[in-house]
Amino acid sequence: MADKALRRLGEALNRWELVPSGTEGYRKAEVTLGGVDTRALSSATMMARDVGNLYFIGEVVDVTGWLGGYNFQWAWASAVAAGKAVAENARSGSGAAARGAH
Ligand SMILES: Cc1cc2nc3c(=O)[nH]c(=O)nc-3n(C[C@H](O)[C@H](O)[C@H](O)COP(=O)(O)OP(=O)(O)OC[C@H]3O[C@@H](n4cnc5c(N)ncnc54)[C@H](O)[C@@H]3O)c2cc1C
Repeated sequence: MADKALRRLGEALNRWELVPSGTEGYRKAEVTLGGVDTRALSSATMMARDVGNLYFIGEVVDVTGWLGGYNFQWAWASAVAAGKAVAENARSGSGAAARGAH
């Protein structure tokens, strides 16, 4: 094959664009991007800023990650943060400890 033809072939392959035609819908979705706005939560405790002792973790929160374990990591890490805050609240008898930490 001539150099010119090879170059043209290489350029065509390198510039080949794939445009997704759509998604497979909710039935196949692996993460939903929940709906609870992260701005409404303390990032330290996952407690609602305006409602004491109300916590949101994991996929119900507007957080999503690439495939590869990031969503599990988020679910577990946010659960640990909230669990510690709940335990602290139970120990101290109020929501004040968690509410103060952001
Ligand atoms: C097919 C698939 C593949 C995935 N693969 C990966 C992956 O490879 N890596 C990755 O990081 N993430 C993956 N994810 C995403 C990951 O599983 C989720 O982000 C994660 O499990 C969310 O954890 P969660 O605890 O927030 O919610 P969930 O795991 O959905 O837990 C919520 C729980 O609440 C229960 N529940 C619901 N309503 C009620 C109620 N009214 N009363 C009591 N209990 C209730 C449900 O039964 C469920 O057990 C995948 C998801 C799907 C669907």
